[in-house]
Amino acid sequence: MKIPFIDLKRQYNNISSQIDEVIKNVIDSTAFASGPYVEKFEEFYRNYIGVKHCIGVNSGTSALHLSLKVLNVGNGDEVITTPHTFVSTVWAISYVGAKPVFVDINPDTYTIDVDKIQEKITDKTKVIMPVHLYGQSANTPDIVKLARENHLFVIEDAAQAQGSECNGNKCGSLADIGCFSFYPGKNLGAFGEAGAITTDDDNLANELRYYRNHCQKEKNLHFDIGYNYRMDGIQGAVLSVKLKYLDLWNQQRKEIADNYSEAFKELDDIKIPFELPNVKHIYHQYQLQLKDENTRNSLREYLTKEGIASGLHYPVPVHLQQAYAHLGYKEGDFPETEKAAKCNISLPIFPEMTEEETNYVIEKIKEYFKR
Ligand SMILES: *Cc1c(COP(=O)(O)O)cnc(C)c1O
Repeated sequence: MKIPFIDLKRQYNNISSQIDEVIKNVIDSTAFASGPYVEKFEEFYRNYIGVKHCIGVNSGTSALHLSLKVLNVGNGDEVITTPHTFVSTVWAISYVGAKPVFVDINPDTYTIDVDKIQEKITDKTKVIMPVHLYGQSANTPDIVKLARENHLFVIEDAAQAQGSECNGNKCGSLADIGCFSFYPGKNLGAFGEAGAITTDDDNLANELRYYRNHCQKEKNLHFDIGYNYRMDGIQGAVLSVKLKYLDLWNQQRKEIADNYSEAFKELDDIKIPFELPNVKHIYHQYQLQLKDENTRNSLREYLTKEGIASGLHYPVPVHLQQAYAHLGYKEGDFPETEKAAKCNISLPIFPEMTEEETNYVIEKIKEYFKR
């Protein structure tokens, strides 16, 4: 058997007639950049997340960048986030000229350790950016409380958390601004690059729309230095179709995750994902933590030999990337992040994965640990 890490073709095959039709509509109306299909999606997505505004953009990275921009974060400011994330979270901080300040993760949830944030807050801190990693909300209510006490903003990096919830509210509605990526492999994926920003704040929403579209208030008049961060019409149309299936797809991921966890919980020296009781985990990734790096690597090799693809998210933490050497962090600064980088493995998980495939992965991993 060959188990892919993700198979986007299966998803397309299931809904191809609807997708083909809406793409044809976009082409027929030549609404390629922004336009009615993007606006429709923005309306659907803002209702889905439960916020007043959704601003469609061309990537999750752009969403994070614009969010910091409209909060007037810039030179001399500090933004707190974790080094255990996709590097884009930190790019955005660099794009506006601010300094990333890292806080280690909680070893159970892999999201920012709220107890370690306070000691990193200075008079330069402007924003806390929790990352809802692997599809589980960070402890956002406590982060927002801490931020309010210190007059800081909170931007959620919800790139991996479309449909995830905390206390019954959707990620992206829990703080000042929510940022989403619709990169094809995300739980809600476009047919290319796309992203979105969600907020309840009218002024921020206006600013976000303004900067997204070349800072144009009237045709040909630009009042600030702007960006072309608009969403494509085809992406808006495709996402509007796919959004209708998101809850079902997230549920299917959750069922696979539950089957995995049920099977693996009896194995020694292996840590299964921990779900916070007040959170809805949508399993963008399913992570196992092994006892050390050698075991992780040898399990990975074994799975490859058995035809099972796996992933590493993320093997080199951001504070140890060459690009951020100038920040002066070193190995040992964030032990939990470094442990996850060395000892974690991501197993195949996608809604269309069959029970037979899941069982095969389970069987092979059990076999590995029996040897
Ligand atoms: C995917 C991702 C991003 C970046 O999104 P793009 O659409 O690829 O630019 C940012 N943060 C996290 C946590 C991500 O997973």
